[in-house]
Amino acid sequence: MLCVQHVSRRYGEVVALDDVSFTVGDGQIVGLLGHNGAGKTTAIKIITGYLQPDTGSVVINDIDVVRNTREAQSLLGYLPESAPLYPELSVQAYLTMMAELRGISRDDLGECLAEAVWDTALQDHLARPIGHLSKGMRQRVGLAQAIVHRPKLLILDEPSIGLDPTQIIEMRRLIKRLAQRSTVLFSTHILSEVEALCDRVVIMANGRIRADATLDELAAAGGTLLTLEHEIPEALAILQGLPGVADVDRTALPDGAVAFTVTPLKPDEPLGSALFRCAATHGWPVRELRREARSLESVFAELSMARPDDEEVA
Ligand code: ATP
Repeated sequence: MLCVQHVSRRYGEVVALDDVSFTVGDGQIVGLLGHNGAGKTTAIKIITGYLQPDTGSVVINDIDVVRNTREAQSLLGYLPESAPLYPELSVQAYLTMMAELRGISRDDLGECLAEAVWDTALQDHLARPIGHLSKGMRQRVGLAQAIVHRPKLLILDEPSIGLDPTQIIEMRRLIKRLAQRSTVLFSTHILSEVEALCDRVVIMANGRIRADATLDELAAAGGTLLTLEHEIPEALAILQGLPGVADVDRTALPDGAVAFTVTPLKPDEPLGSALFRCAATHGWPVRELRREARSLESVFAELSMARPDDEEVA
């Protein structure tokens, strides 16, 4: 559905995006996660054709966004970080205007509007001026305008920003519902949002992709924990020398046991059986051998702090 390839973009001296590539498959719901300034909005503006990349390409359903911007835009619905709503217009008048601007024919207008209004639960607010609505309700109007032309791809820039907890839950429910019909890419800096909504997460930091994986893959990308009943002086060096090992962290436990956290070079190539064989070969007294699950929070913290030239995950 969406293919972003080697996209870079500077604002003067500031490198906002540095060789960013990722894809979003049909029907997926993907979160673009990163702290403020990570480059999410710049990426989204380029994907939606509102900003040109310096280099690289964006293709939506085989249509090049840079070369055929209008055609590509007709396939997508876009909720910007601050949607340009007209406070004096009623919800009905605004959505009608947006539907007409998107070229929906008179014949289809009623049905498209009714569907967008139903999906965003705005039925009881159609006559109200947008300026009189709460922030949460205005976000729903923003969503309604983004889906009124039944886009195949829905792109939401920080859809929950500024909402209260109840409105955030409501927004998540809405996004889930919309994802049944459209592919969804949304940006956020809120971890729980990704956990609640996503099939996959793309983590950005300093304008670069730091990880592109399912939540399960990210959690599994932790190390393997090997605990020995007592100190084996040569164990650390042997573990460090095993093929496929990136790093070994040693912790002495109060009862004399020693725990090694062994991180694989490739997150999808766990080391459990290699460690088991190694311990058996050397006759080490194994107390425990298990995969360490990581929380998305710790992965995010690690990756957000990673240096620009560190390896990326998955
Ligand atoms: P936020 O959530 O705060 O919007 P973001 O992840 O969306 O953050 P971007 O807004 O894409 O990040 O910004 C990426 C980098 O580019 C930041 O360093 C930002 O200061 C810079 N930047 C963004 N827009 C401009 C601009 N118009 N002119 C100069 N620098 C910019």
